[in-house]
This record gives sequence, C-alpha cells and structure tokens, in this order.
Amino acid sequence: MKISPVEELFTLFNETAIVLQEELSCTYLEALAETGENLFQSSILQEELSELTVKRLKKQYEQVNLARFSKEEIRKAFQLVILKGMKENIQPNHQMTPDTVGILVGYLVSKFIQKQEYRLLDPAVGTGNLLTTVLNQQAQKNIESFGVEIDDILIKLAYVNANLQEHSVQFFHQDTMEPLFLDPADVVVSDLPVGFYPNDLRAADYQIKAEEGHTYSHHLFIEQSVKHTVPGGYLFFLIPNGLFESEQATLLHEYIKEHLIIQGLIQLPESMFKNKNAGKSILILQKKGENIQTPKQALLVQLPSLSSSAVMEKVLGKIDEWFQNR
Ligand code: SAM
Repeated sequence: MKISPVEELFTLFNETAIVLQEELSCTYLEALAETGENLFQSSILQEELSELTVKRLKKQYEQVNLARFSKEEIRKAFQLVILKGMKENIQPNHQMTPDTVGILVGYLVSKFIQKQEYRLLDPAVGTGNLLTTVLNQQAQKNIESFGVEIDDILIKLAYVNANLQEHSVQFFHQDTMEPLFLDPADVVVSDLPVGFYPNDLRAADYQIKAEEGHTYSHHLFIEQSVKHTVPGGYLFFLIPNGLFESEQATLLHEYIKEHLIIQGLIQLPESMFKNKNAGKSILILQKKGENIQTPKQALLVQLPSLSSSAVMEKVLGKIDEWFQNR
C-alpha cells in the first residue's frame, strides 16, 4: 500500500522523536523539537547520544528528502505529531489552532489584505500552526512575520515548524503583556488564550484593565495587539462567543469604540467544540485611522458546518457578496 507524503513524514517525526525521548529522558514534545531541528540542520545535534542511536537516526533521516514535500505537507505532518504529544499532557489554553480555523482565517486575510508586502504578527503564536497555515495561503505575497509566545517548549516547536516550512519568522520568547520591541504590524492573527491574566501590576499599564481583581488576558491581548498595529491595519482574533457578555465587557466595548472598527464576526460551528459554552468566533477588527471607512454593515456569519462543501460554498459566496457591497 502506498502511503501519503504526510503519513511518511509523520512516521519519521514520530519514530525519531520516540528514540530521542527515551535516550534524552525528556517529553515527547521536547523530543519532537529536537528531531525537527536535526532534520532542518541535516545533522544530529544531541551530543549525549550513543553511537548506535546516532547511526539509527542518521539512517532514518537519510530516507527522507525534505525538499520533496510541500510546506502544507510538512505543516500537516508536524501538526499531527504535536497533537499526539499534546494528548499526553492536555492544557486547554495551549491547544493548537485546528486546520479548519486556520484555513478560514487565511482565506479572510487574503480577502481583506490586497497589499503585496506586509508585516504579520501572532502575539500568542503557540506551535506556529495558525501562523503558518495563514502564511501558506498567501504564497504570492512578501510577508515579514513575527510570533510571541511565553511557553518555552511551544516556541521551540514554532521555531522548528517555521524552519522546516522555510518561513522566516522572528520569534519573541516573552510574556506578550510586557513591552514588545517590534515595529507595528499591518495584520494580526491570533487564537487568544482565554482566562485571567495574573499580573495585576502589569495589567495596570493597560486602558482595558479591570477595576477590581484580575483582568481577562484575552482583553489585554487585544489591546496590546492594537498598540502594535498600524492605523488601518486588520486584526483577526479567535475569541470565545461570550466575549461581549462577560462582567468586564463594558471596558472592552469602550476600548473598541475608541480605537477600532468591527468589520465582521464569524461564529464557528457548535459541533467543533466540546460544549456550547466553549464555542468560538472569528472577530475581524480594523484599527481606526485617517480615511478609514466603516463598512455599511459588519460581515455577520454563523457557520453551521465546515464539513459540507455545499454549505461552505454558500458561506464563501455570502462573504464575497459582502466584499462587493461594503
Ligand atoms: N495559534 C496557536 C497554535 O496554532 O499553536 C495556539 C494559540 S493558544 C490557543 C494560546 C497561546 O497563548 C498558548 O500557546 C499560550 O502559551 C500563549 N500565552 C498565554 N498567555 C501568554 C502570555 N501572557 N504571553 C505570551 N503567550 C501567552
């Protein structure tokens, strides 16, 4: 039986990660970052391995020529091995952004941004899956991209992921709420971490801070992203459906009114989430600026299902129509 390119790469990542995990006594995800880096550098970088293991790994790496694979095949295979590793220790706020969402965000980015050259930022880049899914859909464009992530293993995976797909991304390993030393982006995409931000002292620097207790980190992420976006720039956020109904929503409403234009809200199908309360939407914002016009009507879509191509075609048709009339 012929195996697909994604399966072939998955097997390579998986088998070599298992070898490294055992030899280095580390987690599967850490081993995955190591094997990805070996593959990218065409060299075995871990000095503590036995001769036999080095030989075995070399043989496995030599069987695969990365240049034969497309960026999307590499991304999908890497996504599958990361998913396997994440099953071992689940942390809800570290979850990778699923393909379906990334593809939709990528489509929206290509519709909204006509420029040939721009700067793209993901301030909660995680494994880089969302960022590279979006990048892979803008193949003809010249994009400078940036990712920020607090978790050391995730940012390592993101870095290896970007290298293997040959995307040059600048990564910042830090708390996104701390000052960010980067020039403003034209476009922001982000699957926001949802919850409370624990550092009240830092949150006090933000207009959106809660009057009492911890501020929602997803609110702070929005403000920090807007701060690092050019006037007229677009922001695409994956947000919880209850974003505008929480006890801190008034602050968010005020903030949005002052700085942003709501271009659209796309509610993802309920079937994608464990329960109704976990449902998410894609919020499309534009930073206010000179000569920036508010659309006649925001793009409002409720997606019933992503698996039916007939339904998706209808929805994409509706989005196209909105673009023509806005
Ligand atoms: N789009 C990512 C992907 O495809 O892998 C997943 C993003 S995940 C939903 C949210 C990410 O935000 C997590 O990786 C988490 O570690 C990160 N995060 C949470 N709080 C943060 C902070 N204060 N600064 C930087 N990153 C943070």
